[in-house]
Amino acid sequence: MNILVIGAGPAGLLFASQMKQAQPAWNISITEKNTPEEVLGWGVVLPGRPPRHPANPLSYLDQPERLNPQFLEEFKLVHHDQPNLMSTGVTLCGVGRQALVQALRAKCVAAGIAIRYETPPADTAQLEAEYDLVVVSNGVNYKSLELTPALAPHIDFGRNKYIWYGTTQLFDQMNLVFRSNAHGIFIGHAYKYSDTMSTFIVECSEETYAKAGLEALSERDAAAYVAKTFKAELGEHELLSQPGQGWRNFMTLSHDRACDGKFVLLGDALQSGHFSIGHGTTMAVVAALLLVKILDTEADTAAALDSFNARAVPLMQLFKDHANSSRLWFESVGERIGLSNAELTASFDARRKDLPSLQEALMASLGYALGR
Ligand SMILES: Cc1cc2nc3c(=O)[nH]c(=O)nc-3n(C[C@H](O)[C@H](O)[C@H](O)COP(=O)(O)OP(=O)(O)OC[C@H]3O[C@@H](n4cnc5c(N)ncnc54)[C@H](O)[C@@H]3O)c2cc1C
Repeated sequence: MNILVIGAGPAGLLFASQMKQAQPAWNISITEKNTPEEVLGWGVVLPGRPPRHPANPLSYLDQPERLNPQFLEEFKLVHHDQPNLMSTGVTLCGVGRQALVQALRAKCVAAGIAIRYETPPADTAQLEAEYDLVVVSNGVNYKSLELTPALAPHIDFGRNKYIWYGTTQLFDQMNLVFRSNAHGIFIGHAYKYSDTMSTFIVECSEETYAKAGLEALSERDAAAYVAKTFKAELGEHELLSQPGQGWRNFMTLSHDRACDGKFVLLGDALQSGHFSIGHGTTMAVVAALLLVKILDTEADTAAALDSFNARAVPLMQLFKDHANSSRLWFESVGERIGLSNAELTASFDARRKDLPSLQEALMASLGYALGR
């Protein structure tokens, strides 16, 4: 079997390394649009402590401690300048995207999987002729590849503006900070992901963004404005942005089908979901493990892809529902900003309660994928 993986992010890399482990004779290669050094984003949270949690990609690395993961067991909601500290009820694992992606790439290369960087967009007809299977794991960059109409995405942009910063201030808990000023409400999501760095995501409504004049500011001045807004949390620590990764509206990419012909979608390329539920990488891992299991057990590739479609699409739709409910809660937070800290916390906790459990669906898929 000759497989091409498009995109060297967590989805494509985990699929490639686990598939190669299951079928060492298969030829698997990866193309990546960026240079080896370019990895977008700062830190992410993942479930559990590796190697115990199978949806945590660190569980598939030989020495996960080398990535300097940080374990987070408390959640702090700050509203009206008062902190409300609680247990998260689970262990979360903060880790740098750069460290995670580089470690997964090294694992692939060690297994004999070639990664070709700075590869120009491929012609799909040529790919179809050359490969038995093409795994499309190019994140939300759907424009970078022309796929068949069956794989055309539904695209939905969130109403809030957000930006993903890094900072040297260390946040020992999962922090959710609501801060109002003359321009409107700003929300900070912050946690440490190494012993020197934290992620700091900020979102606000488009009206607040306009009133604060953020569009007209340079990246540096905008970061200084936000740092001043969250001075109580950041102290003198700066907010660091990546070049070209400015303020944007969150893009949710969804599909009715996960595969068509020889092409199969994986990770964000199949379904992206708002950062406020922190599950995108987890979903990418679970979908990659499902695809490996199905290809490993089903001799006919077309039948395997149909089977993957039947399992992955409902799971991704549930992920989308959870992520959208969470996103909408943040987009309408102005309606609740007068609540007390305890009331706002309760409302935040309840924002996805009417939906079927995503956790149970994930565990069921993992159980199938890992034969447990
Ligand atoms: C602000 C923010 C915070 C987040 N926080 C969390 C979190 O806490 N926890 C969590 O689990 N998830 C989080 N996520 C989501 C998470 O980052 C994604 O779900 C995850 O990276 C998906 O992995 P992927 O491999 O599918 O895509 P990506 O990580 O986007 O990787 C795709 C790769 O494909 C490459 N590529 C693109 N086009 C092409 C092409 N044509 N040819 C070749 N290569 C191409 C890209 O350069 C990239 O390397 C967050 C996302 C955002 C935006």
